[in-house]
Amino acid sequence: MKVKMEKSQALWRRAAKVMPLGVNSNFRYWGEDQTPYVQRAEGAYLWDVDGNRYIDYRLAFGPIILGHAHPKVNAAVAEAIGNGSLYAMTSEREVRVAEKIVAMCPGVEMVRLSNTGTEVTMHALRVARAFTGREKVIKFEGQYHGFHDYLLFSTYSEASTYGSRRSPIPVPSTSGIPRALHELVITLPWNDFEILEETLRRAWFDIAAIIVEPLLGNCAGVEPAPGWLEFIRKKCTEYGIVFILDEVKTGFRMARGGAQEVYGVIPDLATYAKALGNGYPIAAFGGKREIMEVIGRGVAQGGTFSGSAVGVAAAEVTLDLLQNEPILETVAARGRKLQAGLKQVFDGAGLQANIHGHPAMFGFSVGIDMPKNQREWARSDRAYYLRLMEAAYERGVMPDYDAREPWFLCYAHSEADIDETLSVMEDAVRAVKR
Ligand code: PMP
Repeated sequence: MKVKMEKSQALWRRAAKVMPLGVNSNFRYWGEDQTPYVQRAEGAYLWDVDGNRYIDYRLAFGPIILGHAHPKVNAAVAEAIGNGSLYAMTSEREVRVAEKIVAMCPGVEMVRLSNTGTEVTMHALRVARAFTGREKVIKFEGQYHGFHDYLLFSTYSEASTYGSRRSPIPVPSTSGIPRALHELVITLPWNDFEILEETLRRAWFDIAAIIVEPLLGNCAGVEPAPGWLEFIRKKCTEYGIVFILDEVKTGFRMARGGAQEVYGVIPDLATYAKALGNGYPIAAFGGKREIMEVIGRGVAQGGTFSGSAVGVAAAEVTLDLLQNEPILETVAARGRKLQAGLKQVFDGAGLQANIHGHPAMFGFSVGIDMPKNQREWARSDRAYYLRLMEAAYERGVMPDYDAREPWFLCYAHSEADIDETLSVMEDAVRAVKR
């Protein structure tokens, strides 16, 4: 990359001595000389240690919905921690946050708070297994549900390793997952009605849950085909399977009630994290009373840091702001403007490009027809995407370099930021040839 990176490079050399790859999450490592270190972030902007300023479209992979360092959220957290941060006891603020989540999310009648997306998909899966007395789970290729061992299959592997669409191979995304767990997961292509139907007809009695990201939030925002989520809903009801909607990325971002409000589909359980706390650690899972009530009645669930004052105070203000102000409408309007502008830039350059996803979190693919699933998306020109993103960084605009990660928008992105981004992208498209 042609940006100034001396300080980042020096920090990487120090960090790599004490942290694997010099980072605290593999996705943050971009290469020995290319891993940026952050100085600070405010509103829609992020500054690295070398003083480069970026319009940030990574937004910490989605949590930042209002803007970085939001003054009201920070003030609420600061005030809350004056009274202690953790008690191994429940505060009234936790009850208020639970009430707000139940009020905002159409399918949530009861909820438990936790800290990360990984934790809540793990807890939801246990509850589903306990409720049904079954062990297997269906997940879809290209969807990501966190770093625990149960679901880390066919997420970001090469789609060419997934085998035939008629008998997909669950491909573990890492070493270290016990062989025994391979037996418990069935991976299927997204938007494939026929294969889901056949799989269920054959194996329904073993299947505790189908876990679903409402769109491919970890694969460029590829959308559900018309009727697809409704089909999953209907089949889960028919076969007594728990439908878990993983709204970790979409919740409190696509709409106040998340993707279930946008698509009008009510799951049995739903998981939330990310935008719920505008960047502070908090997560939640919840759903039907009948299912959630197994918790504490033979089903274990908990955690030392659950309900910490830090996350709960952040969630309370964030939810109040999202509920009472036209924030998500504004974010979506700016997103639509950015999507339309990008389409114009691509068309103007004669590029075959599809934009997919929701205006608040979308991706694009180049060189293919509109993709229906990860297998089709994988044929897009990802090398070009990467070079285009490098050109964008060099010009002060920072989406993720990985074509799977959506562009995220927040309330702090102004009309002027969108205009600047579009002019940067026009320039980048001119500079990078396919
Ligand atoms: N589910 C989805 C849909 C996600 O996108 C992610 C994170 N990208 C997770 C779960 C895991 O969340 P966390 O990183 O907070 O553990």
